[in-house]
Amino acid sequence: MTDSPKFRPIAARLIHRTVLLSVLCVLVVLALQTAMLWQQHRQRLAEVLGTVGSTHVPLLGVALWDIEPNAVALQVRAIADWPEIGHVRVRAATGQVFEGGDTALIDAAHALVMDIPAPRGGPPVGRLELVADPAHLRAVVGRNALQVLLGYGVLVTALCVLIAVMLRRELQTPLESMARFASELTPEQLTTPLQIVRSSRRNRLDEIDVLADGFGKLQAGLRGHIDNLDGLVAERTEQLEQLVAEIHRLSMTDALTGTYNRRSIDERLPSEVERAHRYGRELSVLFVDLDHFKQINDAHGHPVGDVVLRHMAASVREQLRSGVDWIARYGGEEFVVVLPETPLASAVATAERLRERLAADVIEVNADLRLRITSSWGVTCCRPGDDSGALVARADTLLYEAKLGGRNRVAFSA
Ligand code: GH3
Ligand code: MG
Ligand code: MG
Repeated sequence: MTDSPKFRPIAARLIHRTVLLSVLCVLVVLALQTAMLWQQHRQRLAEVLGTVGSTHVPLLGVALWDIEPNAVALQVRAIADWPEIGHVRVRAATGQVFEGGDTALIDAAHALVMDIPAPRGGPPVGRLELVADPAHLRAVVGRNALQVLLGYGVLVTALCVLIAVMLRRELQTPLESMARFASELTPEQLTTPLQIVRSSRRNRLDEIDVLADGFGKLQAGLRGHIDNLDGLVAERTEQLEQLVAEIHRLSMTDALTGTYNRRSIDERLPSEVERAHRYGRELSVLFVDLDHFKQINDAHGHPVGDVVLRHMAASVREQLRSGVDWIARYGGEEFVVVLPETPLASAVATAERLRERLAADVIEVNADLRLRITSSWGVTCCRPGDDSGALVARADTLLYEAKLGGRNRVAFSA
């Protein structure tokens, strides 16, 4: 499992790095200064030894030669007074020893030894042993370190604080505002402008201004795009609804005649029957079939038969009550006509009227062909307990009776 990365502001990271780098710089300066001081100290020690060798050693030689212990002790003290020298020992050739400085620093291994020559030549009258004072070196280095730390430290701290304040004001605060704004942005808030509080820059732009400006443009672009999408979706939805309505209409319509089709009979008639039963209303159904239609097809071809079918459907539809009665093609040249709120007697009268009208029509197929048709009708009305199937089946049976009866007639029964 990987931990999600921790959030850390850029400004905090920059400040942290600046402080680290500054501390490193101070340390480097301190190391260089110490190395230089160390070098200076060595030179100084060499100078002191040179001075001791040229001034004190001859005087020591005279004092030892003259056997003047006080004068020797005086010289030993004078040498020990040099701050660079920690301990002084003079061993006289006579075996006497004179010491000065800090005896705790006696270090035979690191002592600087020089012979004390006799004033007028001959063997040395003694030996001078000098030990450098490490406390003096430490004090010099420590003093310097303190100066460096105080001087550079104060300067670096002041610079870091200044940089931190500037970074926070110029970078962290505006970036935080932008980050908060971006993380809380929702499609509904696209019109809310990004507001960043910044110090005055006298008409000068920087990356944050460019970024904020880009944000505004992005919001405007997105808003426009969403508005476009909303319009597009509304337009497409309307087109789709029209299309669905058209598909539904087509699925209920017979392509050849434009009347309802068999499926719409199955969908619509049951509810007509249900309504008639529930409210005790009359409902009649006519079943019509063209007489000897096959002969028309055989004699003139199917396209002519189609013209006849279209004519018949139009003729019947024309005479029905608009918005109340409806006609549907049951199959072939058979149609069902549904007459709501119509008792059997009226339905029979309507069927007769329709039959007569069809028989009277002259169908002008083309300039050379005029046809006449007749039709047979079965008429019945809804009885208690009838369902749509029973109603249509009874009308079909009656139609068959009309055919048997000699065609071009109406057969009916309640
Ligand atoms: P009847 O008087 O007994 O009804 O005689 P008919 O010739 O009309 O007999 P039938 O009902 O059996 O014939 C129907 C014919 O209708 C047969 C078929 O070729 C024709 N037909 C069915 N659908 C179409 C169609 O969409 N277009 C055309 N042109 N003819 C069709
Ligand atoms: Mg027929
Ligand atoms: Mg038929």
